[in-house]
Amino acid sequence: MTKFDDLPYVRPDLEAFEAEFRAALRDFGAAGSAEGQAAAFARLSSLRNGFETAASMVEIRQTRNTLDPFYEAENDFMDEAKPRVEGLESELYAALAASPFRPELERRLGRQLFRLAELKMKTYKPEILEDLQAENRLGSEYVKLKASARVPFEGEERNLTELLAFAESPDRGMRKRATAAIAGFYRDHEAEFDRIYDELVRLRDAIARKLGFPNFVPLAYARLGRSDYGAEAVAGYRRQVHATVVPLAAALRKRQAARLGLPSLEFYDEALEFPSGNPEPLGGAEGIVANGLSMFAAMSKETGDFFRLLSERGLYDLETRKGKAAGGYCSYLPTERVPYIFANFNGTAEDVDTFSHECGHAFQVYRSGLAARGVPDYDWPTLEACEIHSMGMEFLAWPWMDSFFGKDAAKYRFRHLSAGILFLPYGVLVDEFQHWVYGNPQVSPAERKAAWRGLERKYLPWRDYSGDEFLERGGFWFRQGHIFQDPFYYIDYTLAQVSAYEFWGKAGADRGAAWASYLSLCDLGGSESYLEL
Ligand code: ZN
Repeated sequence: MTKFDDLPYVRPDLEAFEAEFRAALRDFGAAGSAEGQAAAFARLSSLRNGFETAASMVEIRQTRNTLDPFYEAENDFMDEAKPRVEGLESELYAALAASPFRPELERRLGRQLFRLAELKMKTYKPEILEDLQAENRLGSEYVKLKASARVPFEGEERNLTELLAFAESPDRGMRKRATAAIAGFYRDHEAEFDRIYDELVRLRDAIARKLGFPNFVPLAYARLGRSDYGAEAVAGYRRQVHATVVPLAAALRKRQAARLGLPSLEFYDEALEFPSGNPEPLGGAEGIVANGLSMFAAMSKETGDFFRLLSERGLYDLETRKGKAAGGYCSYLPTERVPYIFANFNGTAEDVDTFSHECGHAFQVYRSGLAARGVPDYDWPTLEACEIHSMGMEFLAWPWMDSFFGKDAAKYRFRHLSAGILFLPYGVLVDEFQHWVYGNPQVSPAERKAAWRGLERKYLPWRDYSGDEFLERGGFWFRQGHIFQDPFYYIDYTLAQVSAYEFWGKAGADRGAAWASYLSLCDLGGSESYLEL
Protein backbone atom coordinates (compact mmCIF):
# COMPACT_ATOMS: atom_id res chain seq x y z
CA MET A 1 0.00 0.00 0.00
CA THR A 2 2.47 2.63 -1.20
CA LYS A 3 1.40 6.21 -0.54
CA PHE A 4 1.04 8.41 -3.60
CA ASP A 5 3.93 10.65 -2.55
CA ASP A 6 6.21 7.61 -2.33
CA LEU A 7 5.34 6.20 -5.77
CA PRO A 8 8.48 6.39 -7.89
CA TYR A 9 8.25 8.27 -11.18
CA VAL A 10 10.53 7.34 -14.06
CA ARG A 11 10.28 9.18 -17.37
CA PRO A 12 8.98 6.66 -19.96
CA ASP A 13 11.57 5.61 -22.53
CA LEU A 14 9.64 6.48 -25.67
CA GLU A 15 11.95 4.61 -28.07
CA ALA A 16 11.59 1.40 -26.09
CA PHE A 17 7.87 1.99 -25.66
CA GLU A 18 7.38 2.45 -29.37
CA ALA A 19 9.40 -0.66 -30.21
CA GLU A 20 7.41 -2.83 -27.79
CA PHE A 21 4.12 -1.34 -28.95
CA ARG A 22 4.93 -2.01 -32.60
CA ALA A 23 6.04 -5.56 -31.83
CA ALA A 24 2.73 -6.24 -30.06
CA LEU A 25 0.85 -4.60 -32.95
CA ARG A 26 2.66 -6.88 -35.41
CA ASP A 27 1.69 -9.89 -33.30
CA PHE A 28 -1.90 -8.64 -33.28
CA GLY A 29 -1.90 -8.40 -37.08
CA ALA A 30 -0.21 -11.77 -37.55
CA ALA A 31 -2.34 -13.70 -35.05
CA GLY A 32 -4.34 -16.48 -36.67
CA SER A 33 -7.16 -16.43 -34.14
CA ALA A 34 -9.27 -14.14 -31.98
CA GLU A 35 -7.48 -15.66 -28.99
CA GLY A 36 -4.08 -14.65 -30.36
CA GLN A 37 -5.31 -11.14 -31.06
CA ALA A 38 -6.79 -10.86 -27.58
CA ALA A 39 -3.42 -11.83 -26.09
CA ALA A 40 -1.63 -9.15 -28.13
CA PHE A 41 -4.34 -6.66 -27.14
CA ALA A 42 -3.65 -7.44 -23.47
CA ARG A 43 0.07 -6.66 -23.95
CA LEU A 44 -0.85 -3.40 -25.70
CA SER A 45 -3.21 -2.52 -22.86
CA SER A 46 -0.54 -3.03 -20.25
CA LEU A 47 1.85 -0.78 -22.20
CA ARG A 48 -0.82 1.89 -22.48
CA ASN A 49 -1.58 1.61 -18.76
CA GLY A 50 2.09 2.09 -17.89
CA PHE A 51 2.35 5.25 -19.97
CA GLU A 52 -0.98 6.59 -18.71
CA THR A 53 0.12 6.09 -15.11
CA ALA A 54 3.34 8.07 -15.71
CA ALA A 55 1.36 10.82 -17.49
CA SER A 56 -1.12 11.04 -14.60
CA MET A 57 1.69 11.26 -12.05
CA VAL A 58 3.23 14.15 -13.98
CA GLU A 59 -0.11 15.95 -14.28
CA ILE A 60 -0.81 15.55 -10.56
CA ARG A 61 2.64 16.52 -9.32
CA GLN A 62 3.00 19.42 -11.75
CA THR A 63 -0.43 20.90 -10.97
CA ARG A 64 0.18 20.49 -7.23
CA ASN A 65 3.19 22.76 -7.60
CA THR A 66 3.51 24.58 -10.91
CA LEU A 67 6.78 26.10 -9.63
CA ASP A 68 8.60 22.74 -9.37
CA PRO A 69 11.17 22.76 -12.22
CA PHE A 70 11.49 18.94 -12.31
CA TYR A 71 7.83 18.26 -13.00
CA GLU A 72 7.60 21.31 -15.23
CA ALA A 73 10.22 19.66 -17.46
CA GLU A 74 8.35 16.35 -17.23
CA ASN A 75 5.14 18.14 -18.18
CA ASP A 76 6.88 19.60 -21.24
CA PHE A 77 8.06 16.07 -22.07
CA MET A 78 4.50 14.73 -21.77
CA ASP A 79 3.13 17.51 -24.01
CA GLU A 80 5.41 16.09 -26.72
CA ALA A 81 5.06 12.41 -25.82
CA LYS A 82 1.27 12.14 -25.57
CA PRO A 83 0.62 12.82 -29.27
CA ARG A 84 3.20 10.18 -30.21
CA VAL A 85 1.42 7.63 -28.04
CA GLU A 86 -1.89 8.81 -29.51
CA GLY A 87 -0.44 8.10 -32.95
CA LEU A 88 0.45 4.56 -31.92
CA GLU A 89 -3.00 4.09 -30.42
CA SER A 90 -4.62 5.16 -33.65
CA GLU A 91 -2.72 2.33 -35.37
CA LEU A 92 -4.13 -0.04 -32.76
CA TYR A 93 -7.64 1.29 -33.42
CA ALA A 94 -7.20 0.79 -37.17
CA ALA A 95 -6.01 -2.79 -36.55
CA LEU A 96 -9.00 -3.49 -34.29
CA ALA A 97 -11.46 -2.11 -36.83
CA ALA A 98 -9.91 -4.21 -39.60
CA SER A 99 -9.66 -7.45 -37.59
CA PRO A 100 -10.90 -10.55 -39.46
CA PHE A 101 -11.98 -11.85 -36.05
CA ARG A 102 -14.00 -8.78 -35.19
CA PRO A 103 -17.29 -10.54 -34.26
CA GLU A 104 -15.44 -12.82 -31.85
CA LEU A 105 -13.40 -9.90 -30.46
CA GLU A 106 -16.57 -7.86 -30.00
CA ARG A 107 -17.98 -10.70 -27.93
CA ARG A 108 -14.82 -10.79 -25.79
CA LEU A 109 -14.05 -7.08 -25.50
CA GLY A 110 -17.45 -5.48 -26.07
CA ARG A 111 -18.85 -3.50 -28.99
CA GLN A 112 -18.15 -0.10 -27.48
CA LEU A 113 -14.38 -0.50 -28.01
CA PHE A 114 -14.99 -0.84 -31.74
CA ARG A 115 -17.30 2.15 -31.88
CA LEU A 116 -14.64 4.22 -30.12
CA ALA A 117 -11.94 2.79 -32.38
CA GLU A 118 -13.82 3.90 -35.49
CA LEU A 119 -14.20 7.42 -34.12
CA LYS A 120 -10.63 7.72 -32.82
CA MET A 121 -9.14 6.51 -36.11
CA LYS A 122 -10.55 9.65 -37.70
CA THR A 123 -8.81 11.92 -35.19
CA TYR A 124 -5.18 11.18 -36.05
CA LYS A 125 -2.74 11.10 -38.94
CA PRO A 126 1.06 11.31 -38.64
CA GLU A 127 0.92 14.74 -40.38
CA ILE A 128 -0.72 16.32 -37.34
CA LEU A 129 1.78 15.10 -34.72
CA GLU A 130 3.51 18.45 -34.37
CA ASP A 131 0.18 20.31 -34.35
CA LEU A 132 -1.02 18.18 -31.43
CA GLN A 133 2.20 18.91 -29.57
CA ALA A 134 1.68 22.63 -30.16
CA GLU A 135 -1.94 22.30 -28.95
CA ASN A 136 -0.72 20.74 -25.69
CA ARG A 137 1.91 23.45 -25.22
CA LEU A 138 -0.70 26.18 -25.60
CA GLY A 139 -2.97 24.44 -23.09
CA SER A 140 -0.09 24.30 -20.60
CA GLU A 141 0.59 28.00 -21.20
CA TYR A 142 -2.99 28.80 -20.25
CA VAL A 143 -2.72 26.81 -16.99
CA LYS A 144 0.56 28.50 -16.06
CA LEU A 145 -0.76 31.97 -16.86
CA LYS A 146 -3.74 31.49 -14.55
CA ALA A 147 -1.62 29.89 -11.83
CA SER A 148 0.73 32.90 -12.00
CA ALA A 149 -1.97 35.20 -10.57
CA ARG A 150 -0.79 37.05 -7.43
CA VAL A 151 -3.33 39.77 -6.90
CA PRO A 152 -2.74 42.14 -3.97
CA PHE A 153 -6.02 42.11 -2.05
CA GLU A 154 -6.83 42.92 1.59
CA GLY A 155 -3.17 43.19 2.51
CA GLU A 156 -1.99 39.93 0.91
CA GLU A 157 -1.19 38.47 -2.48
CA ARG A 158 -4.02 36.14 -3.48
CA ASN A 159 -4.55 33.57 -6.20
CA LEU A 160 -7.79 33.52 -8.21
CA THR A 161 -9.42 30.82 -6.09
CA GLU A 162 -8.75 32.78 -2.90
CA LEU A 163 -10.31 35.88 -4.48
CA LEU A 164 -13.49 33.95 -5.31
CA ALA A 165 -14.12 33.45 -1.59
CA PHE A 166 -14.05 37.26 -1.08
CA ALA A 167 -16.47 37.65 -4.00
CA GLU A 168 -19.11 35.84 -1.88
CA SER A 169 -18.76 38.20 1.09
CA PRO A 170 -21.99 39.54 2.67
CA ASP A 171 -20.20 42.94 2.58
CA ARG A 172 -21.26 44.45 -0.74
CA GLY A 173 -18.19 46.67 -1.05
CA MET A 174 -15.92 43.67 -0.51
CA ARG A 175 -17.80 41.64 -3.13
CA LYS A 176 -17.51 44.48 -5.60
CA ARG A 177 -13.76 44.92 -5.03
CA ALA A 178 -13.02 41.17 -5.19
CA THR A 179 -15.07 40.76 -8.37
CA ALA A 180 -13.26 43.70 -9.93
CA ALA A 181 -9.88 42.29 -8.84
CA ILE A 182 -10.61 38.97 -10.58
CA ALA A 183 -11.76 40.66 -13.79
CA GLY A 184 -8.73 42.95 -13.48
CA PHE A 185 -6.32 40.01 -13.62
CA TYR A 186 -7.87 38.77 -16.87
CA ARG A 187 -8.00 42.30 -18.31
CA ASP A 188 -4.34 42.91 -17.45
CA HIS A 189 -3.40 39.72 -19.33
CA GLU A 190 -5.95 40.15 -22.10
CA ALA A 191 -3.39 40.13 -24.91
CA GLU A 192 -1.86 36.87 -23.66
CA PHE A 193 -5.20 35.08 -23.24
CA ASP A 194 -6.28 36.37 -26.67
CA ARG A 195 -3.08 35.16 -28.29
CA ILE A 196 -3.24 31.69 -26.69
CA TYR A 197 -6.88 31.20 -27.70
CA ASP A 198 -6.45 32.62 -31.19
CA GLU A 199 -3.55 30.24 -31.82
CA LEU A 200 -5.56 27.32 -30.42
CA VAL A 201 -8.56 28.03 -32.66
CA ARG A 202 -6.49 28.38 -35.82
CA LEU A 203 -4.44 25.32 -34.96
CA ARG A 204 -7.49 23.16 -34.25
CA ASP A 205 -9.12 24.33 -37.46
CA ALA A 206 -5.97 23.42 -39.42
CA ILE A 207 -5.79 19.99 -37.74
CA ALA A 208 -9.42 19.33 -38.65
CA ARG A 209 -8.83 20.25 -42.29
CA LYS A 210 -5.73 18.04 -42.50
CA LEU A 211 -7.86 15.16 -41.23
CA GLY A 212 -10.52 15.84 -43.88
CA PHE A 213 -13.14 17.54 -41.71
CA PRO A 214 -14.82 20.79 -42.89
CA ASN A 215 -13.96 22.43 -39.53
CA PHE A 216 -13.09 21.52 -35.95
CA VAL A 217 -16.66 20.81 -34.73
CA PRO A 218 -17.08 17.23 -36.03
CA LEU A 219 -13.46 16.44 -35.07
CA ALA A 220 -14.17 17.55 -31.50
CA TYR A 221 -17.22 15.27 -31.36
CA ALA A 222 -15.10 12.35 -32.62
CA ARG A 223 -12.32 13.12 -30.13
CA LEU A 224 -14.89 13.03 -27.34
CA GLY A 225 -16.07 9.60 -28.50
CA ARG A 226 -19.65 10.78 -29.08
CA SER A 227 -20.98 7.78 -30.96
CA ASP A 228 -24.71 8.27 -30.61
CA TYR A 229 -25.50 11.97 -31.03
CA GLY A 230 -24.23 14.94 -33.03
CA ALA A 231 -24.21 18.73 -33.18
CA GLU A 232 -27.86 18.92 -34.34
CA ALA A 233 -29.17 17.02 -31.32
CA VAL A 234 -27.09 19.25 -29.07
CA ALA A 235 -28.50 22.39 -30.73
CA GLY A 236 -32.01 21.05 -30.06
CA TYR A 237 -31.10 20.51 -26.42
CA ARG A 238 -29.79 24.10 -26.15
CA ARG A 239 -33.10 25.37 -27.57
CA GLN A 240 -34.97 23.44 -24.88
CA VAL A 241 -32.79 24.92 -22.15
CA HIS A 242 -33.35 28.39 -23.60
CA ALA A 243 -37.13 27.94 -23.74
CA THR A 244 -37.71 26.22 -20.40
CA VAL A 245 -34.79 26.80 -18.04
CA VAL A 246 -33.77 30.41 -18.77
CA PRO A 247 -37.13 31.80 -17.50
CA LEU A 248 -36.84 29.65 -14.37
CA ALA A 249 -33.27 30.82 -13.78
CA ALA A 250 -34.33 34.46 -14.28
CA ALA A 251 -37.07 33.97 -11.67
CA LEU A 252 -34.51 32.53 -9.24
CA ARG A 253 -32.27 35.58 -9.76
CA LYS A 254 -35.27 37.85 -9.01
CA ARG A 255 -35.94 35.94 -5.79
CA GLN A 256 -32.27 36.26 -4.91
CA ALA A 257 -32.34 40.06 -5.34
CA ALA A 258 -35.46 40.28 -3.17
CA ARG A 259 -33.85 38.03 -0.54
CA LEU A 260 -30.79 40.27 -0.47
CA GLY A 261 -32.99 43.37 -0.29
CA LEU A 262 -31.53 44.81 -3.50
CA PRO A 263 -33.52 46.70 -6.14
CA SER A 264 -31.53 44.85 -8.81
CA LEU A 265 -28.82 42.23 -8.88
CA GLU A 266 -25.40 43.39 -10.09
CA PHE A 267 -22.86 40.83 -11.33
CA TYR A 268 -20.90 41.19 -8.10
CA ASP A 269 -24.03 40.24 -6.12
CA GLU A 270 -24.63 36.98 -7.96
CA ALA A 271 -22.29 34.90 -5.78
CA LEU A 272 -24.07 35.84 -2.53
CA GLU A 273 -27.21 33.77 -1.97
CA PHE A 274 -28.32 34.85 1.51
CA PRO A 275 -28.12 38.19 3.35
CA SER A 276 -26.76 36.31 6.37
CA GLY A 277 -23.94 34.93 4.19
CA ASN A 278 -23.52 31.79 2.14
CA PRO A 279 -23.45 28.42 3.92
CA GLU A 280 -19.98 27.67 5.26
CA PRO A 281 -18.58 24.18 5.71
CA LEU A 282 -17.46 23.34 9.24
CA GLY A 283 -13.81 22.76 10.05
CA GLY A 284 -12.11 23.73 6.79
CA ALA A 285 -10.53 21.14 4.49
CA GLU A 286 -9.80 18.83 7.45
CA GLY A 287 -13.42 18.97 8.54
CA ILE A 288 -14.59 18.07 5.03
CA VAL A 289 -12.27 15.06 4.87
CA ALA A 290 -13.30 13.86 8.35
CA ASN A 291 -17.00 14.25 7.48
CA GLY A 292 -16.34 12.60 4.13
CA LEU A 293 -14.83 9.57 5.81
CA SER A 294 -17.92 9.02 7.98
CA MET A 295 -20.31 9.87 5.13
CA PHE A 296 -18.82 7.29 2.77
CA ALA A 297 -18.64 4.71 5.55
CA ALA A 298 -22.37 5.22 6.20
CA MET A 299 -23.41 5.48 2.54
CA SER A 300 -22.51 1.90 1.54
CA LYS A 301 -19.87 -0.76 2.06
CA GLU A 302 -18.47 0.03 -1.41
CA THR A 303 -18.00 3.75 -0.73
CA GLY A 304 -16.58 3.04 2.73
CA ASP A 305 -13.85 0.80 1.29
CA PHE A 306 -13.21 3.35 -1.43
CA PHE A 307 -12.63 6.36 0.78
CA ARG A 308 -10.56 4.47 3.34
CA LEU A 309 -8.22 3.51 0.51
CA LEU A 310 -7.95 7.11 -0.66
CA SER A 311 -7.11 8.27 2.86
CA GLU A 312 -4.61 5.50 3.57
CA ARG A 313 -2.69 6.06 0.34
CA GLY A 314 -2.79 9.85 0.37
CA LEU A 315 -4.72 10.04 -2.90
CA TYR A 316 -5.93 13.63 -2.65
CA ASP A 317 -4.65 17.20 -2.35
CA LEU A 318 -7.53 19.50 -1.52
CA GLU A 319 -6.50 22.89 -0.13
CA THR A 320 -5.60 25.86 -2.31
CA ARG A 321 -2.00 27.15 -2.22
CA LYS A 322 0.03 29.65 -4.15
CA GLY A 323 1.65 28.03 -7.15
CA LYS A 324 -0.98 25.29 -7.30
CA ALA A 325 -2.87 25.11 -10.60
CA ALA A 326 -6.49 26.30 -10.47
CA GLY A 327 -9.56 24.07 -10.57
CA GLY A 328 -10.34 20.54 -9.54
CA TYR A 329 -10.11 17.17 -11.24
CA CYS A 330 -9.95 13.45 -10.68
CA SER A 331 -7.16 11.48 -12.30
CA TYR A 332 -6.45 7.74 -12.51
CA LEU A 333 -3.32 5.63 -12.10
CA PRO A 334 -4.17 2.50 -14.12
CA THR A 335 -1.26 0.32 -12.98
CA GLU A 336 -2.09 1.09 -9.33
CA ARG A 337 -5.82 0.94 -10.09
CA VAL A 338 -6.43 3.97 -7.88
CA PRO A 339 -7.84 7.46 -8.49
CA TYR A 340 -6.37 10.77 -7.37
CA ILE A 341 -8.40 13.86 -6.40
CA PHE A 342 -7.09 17.40 -6.89
CA ALA A 343 -8.95 20.46 -5.62
CA ASN A 344 -8.51 24.04 -4.42
CA PHE A 345 -10.58 24.35 -1.25
CA ASN A 346 -11.05 27.98 -0.22
CA GLY A 347 -13.45 27.58 2.72
CA THR A 348 -16.69 28.03 0.74
CA ALA A 349 -19.63 25.70 0.14
CA GLU A 350 -18.20 24.95 -3.30
CA ASP A 351 -15.54 22.94 -1.48
CA VAL A 352 -18.21 20.44 -0.47
CA ASP A 353 -19.67 20.37 -4.01
CA THR A 354 -16.18 19.78 -5.39
CA PHE A 355 -15.46 17.13 -2.78
CA SER A 356 -18.57 15.05 -3.48
CA HIS A 357 -18.23 15.74 -7.22
CA GLU A 358 -14.65 14.55 -7.56
CA CYS A 359 -15.34 11.66 -5.17
CA GLY A 360 -18.12 10.58 -7.56
CA HIS A 361 -15.63 10.46 -10.44
CA ALA A 362 -13.06 8.75 -8.24
CA PHE A 363 -15.56 6.16 -7.00
CA GLN A 364 -16.55 5.22 -10.55
CA VAL A 365 -12.98 4.80 -11.77
CA TYR A 366 -12.05 2.92 -8.57
CA ARG A 367 -14.89 0.50 -9.41
CA SER A 368 -13.42 0.18 -12.91
CA GLY A 369 -10.14 -0.79 -11.27
CA LEU A 370 -11.92 -3.52 -9.31
CA ALA A 371 -13.79 -4.72 -12.41
CA ALA A 372 -10.45 -5.15 -14.27
CA ARG A 373 -12.08 -5.37 -17.70
CA GLY A 374 -8.75 -5.42 -19.48
CA VAL A 375 -9.80 -2.62 -21.86
CA PRO A 376 -8.21 0.73 -20.89
CA ASP A 377 -10.84 2.53 -22.99
CA TYR A 378 -13.49 1.35 -20.50
CA ASP A 379 -11.87 2.79 -17.37
CA TRP A 380 -13.95 5.94 -17.86
CA PRO A 381 -17.03 6.37 -20.01
CA THR A 382 -17.37 9.36 -22.34
CA LEU A 383 -17.46 12.62 -20.41
CA GLU A 384 -21.19 13.37 -20.36
CA ALA A 385 -21.64 9.99 -18.66
CA CYS A 386 -18.67 10.60 -16.32
CA GLU A 387 -20.33 13.75 -15.07
CA ILE A 388 -23.44 11.80 -14.07
CA HIS A 389 -21.30 9.88 -11.56
CA SER A 390 -19.90 13.11 -10.13
CA MET A 391 -22.99 15.31 -10.17
CA GLY A 392 -25.17 12.38 -9.07
CA MET A 393 -22.89 11.89 -6.06
CA GLU A 394 -23.35 15.57 -5.12
CA PHE A 395 -27.06 14.82 -4.62
CA LEU A 396 -26.61 11.37 -3.06
CA ALA A 397 -24.48 13.13 -0.41
CA TRP A 398 -27.43 15.30 0.71
CA PRO A 399 -28.45 13.32 3.83
CA TRP A 400 -24.99 13.99 5.34
CA MET A 401 -24.96 17.72 4.72
CA ASP A 402 -26.11 18.36 8.31
CA SER A 403 -22.72 17.15 9.54
CA PHE A 404 -20.83 19.18 6.88
CA PHE A 405 -22.77 22.42 7.47
CA GLY A 406 -24.50 22.23 10.88
CA LYS A 407 -27.15 24.96 11.07
CA ASP A 408 -26.35 26.02 7.48
CA ALA A 409 -27.45 22.67 5.97
CA ALA A 410 -30.78 23.93 4.63
CA LYS A 411 -29.05 26.92 3.06
CA TYR A 412 -26.60 24.53 1.40
CA ARG A 413 -29.37 22.35 -0.02
CA PHE A 414 -31.30 25.32 -1.40
CA ARG A 415 -28.16 26.76 -2.93
CA HIS A 416 -27.07 23.44 -4.44
CA LEU A 417 -30.49 22.67 -5.93
CA SER A 418 -30.89 26.14 -7.44
CA ALA A 419 -27.26 26.32 -8.61
CA GLY A 420 -27.99 23.51 -11.08
CA ILE A 421 -30.86 25.50 -12.62
CA LEU A 422 -28.68 28.61 -12.81
CA PHE A 423 -25.87 26.57 -14.32
CA LEU A 424 -27.78 25.06 -17.25
CA PRO A 425 -28.11 28.33 -19.25
CA TYR A 426 -24.43 29.13 -18.65
CA GLY A 427 -23.40 25.63 -19.70
CA VAL A 428 -25.25 25.76 -23.01
CA LEU A 429 -23.90 29.30 -23.58
CA VAL A 430 -20.34 27.95 -23.34
CA ASP A 431 -21.29 25.24 -25.83
CA GLU A 432 -23.00 27.57 -28.32
CA PHE A 433 -20.05 29.96 -28.13
CA GLN A 434 -17.63 27.20 -29.10
CA HIS A 435 -19.81 26.05 -32.00
CA TRP A 436 -19.77 29.64 -33.23
CA VAL A 437 -16.02 30.10 -32.68
CA TYR A 438 -14.99 26.95 -34.56
CA GLY A 439 -17.60 27.57 -37.26
CA ASN A 440 -15.97 30.99 -37.81
CA PRO A 441 -12.29 30.35 -37.13
CA GLN A 442 -11.06 33.49 -38.92
CA VAL A 443 -12.75 36.10 -36.73
CA SER A 444 -10.73 38.44 -34.51
CA PRO A 445 -10.42 38.17 -30.72
CA ALA A 446 -12.61 41.29 -30.39
CA GLU A 447 -15.34 39.67 -32.49
CA ARG A 448 -15.18 36.54 -30.33
CA LYS A 449 -15.71 38.63 -27.21
CA ALA A 450 -18.62 40.46 -28.83
CA ALA A 451 -20.19 37.12 -29.78
CA TRP A 452 -19.77 35.90 -26.20
CA ARG A 453 -21.45 39.02 -24.84
CA GLY A 454 -24.33 38.55 -27.28
CA LEU A 455 -24.83 34.98 -26.06
CA GLU A 456 -24.75 36.18 -22.45
CA ARG A 457 -27.68 38.47 -23.29
CA LYS A 458 -29.53 35.48 -24.73
CA TYR A 459 -28.86 32.96 -21.95
CA LEU A 460 -28.12 35.14 -18.91
CA PRO A 461 -30.52 38.06 -19.54
CA TRP A 462 -30.25 39.18 -15.89
CA ARG A 463 -26.46 39.63 -16.07
CA ASP A 464 -25.46 43.24 -15.26
CA TYR A 465 -21.74 44.02 -15.27
CA SER A 466 -22.42 47.51 -13.85
CA GLY A 467 -20.33 49.12 -16.55
CA ASP A 468 -17.16 47.01 -16.06
CA GLU A 469 -15.54 47.83 -19.38
CA PHE A 470 -13.70 44.52 -19.88
CA LEU A 471 -16.64 42.28 -18.99
CA GLU A 472 -18.99 44.43 -21.07
CA ARG A 473 -16.74 43.75 -24.06
CA GLY A 474 -17.18 40.00 -23.42
CA GLY A 475 -14.10 38.96 -21.45
CA PHE A 476 -15.77 36.70 -18.89
CA TRP A 477 -14.94 33.41 -20.61
CA PHE A 478 -11.17 33.73 -20.16
CA ARG A 479 -11.70 32.12 -16.76
CA GLN A 480 -13.45 29.06 -18.25
CA GLY A 481 -10.52 26.64 -18.68
CA HIS A 482 -12.52 24.12 -20.71
CA ILE A 483 -12.86 26.62 -23.54
CA PHE A 484 -9.08 26.64 -23.87
CA GLN A 485 -8.04 23.15 -22.88
CA ASP A 486 -11.00 20.85 -23.46
CA PRO A 487 -12.97 22.19 -26.40
CA PHE A 488 -16.62 21.11 -26.54
CA TYR A 489 -16.33 19.39 -23.14
CA TYR A 490 -18.98 21.48 -21.43
CA ILE A 491 -22.40 20.54 -22.73
CA ASP A 492 -21.52 17.28 -20.95
CA TYR A 493 -22.05 18.94 -17.56
CA THR A 494 -25.46 20.22 -18.56
CA LEU A 495 -26.59 16.81 -19.84
CA ALA A 496 -25.32 15.18 -16.66
CA GLN A 497 -26.94 17.86 -14.48
CA VAL A 498 -30.34 16.73 -15.70
CA SER A 499 -29.52 13.08 -14.98
CA ALA A 500 -28.20 14.11 -11.55
CA TYR A 501 -31.57 15.75 -10.81
CA GLU A 502 -33.14 12.43 -11.71
CA PHE A 503 -31.00 10.73 -9.07
CA TRP A 504 -32.05 13.43 -6.60
CA GLY A 505 -35.71 12.75 -7.35
CA LYS A 506 -35.22 8.98 -7.19
CA ALA A 507 -33.29 9.18 -3.91
CA GLY A 508 -36.08 11.27 -2.36
CA ALA A 509 -38.63 8.61 -3.30
CA ASP A 510 -36.58 5.44 -2.71
CA ARG A 511 -33.04 5.79 -1.45
CA GLY A 512 -32.21 2.07 -1.85
CA ALA A 513 -33.33 1.95 -5.46
CA ALA A 514 -31.46 5.17 -6.28
CA TRP A 515 -28.23 3.84 -4.77
CA ALA A 516 -28.54 0.49 -6.58
CA SER A 517 -29.07 2.30 -9.86
CA TYR A 518 -26.11 4.64 -9.23
CA LEU A 519 -23.80 1.77 -8.30
CA SER A 520 -24.70 -0.21 -11.40
CA LEU A 521 -24.12 2.87 -13.57
CA CYS A 522 -20.67 3.32 -11.98
CA ASP A 523 -19.90 -0.37 -12.41
CA LEU A 524 -20.58 -0.25 -16.14
CA GLY A 525 -17.71 2.22 -16.45
CA GLY A 526 -17.15 3.03 -20.10
CA SER A 527 -18.22 -0.34 -21.43
CA GLU A 528 -21.27 1.16 -23.18
CA SER A 529 -22.11 4.37 -25.03
CA TYR A 530 -23.73 7.41 -23.40
CA LEU A 531 -27.29 6.69 -24.48
CA GLU A 532 -26.93 3.00 -23.60
CA LEU A 533 -25.63 3.90 -20.15
ZN1 ZN B 1 -16.55 16.42 -13.22
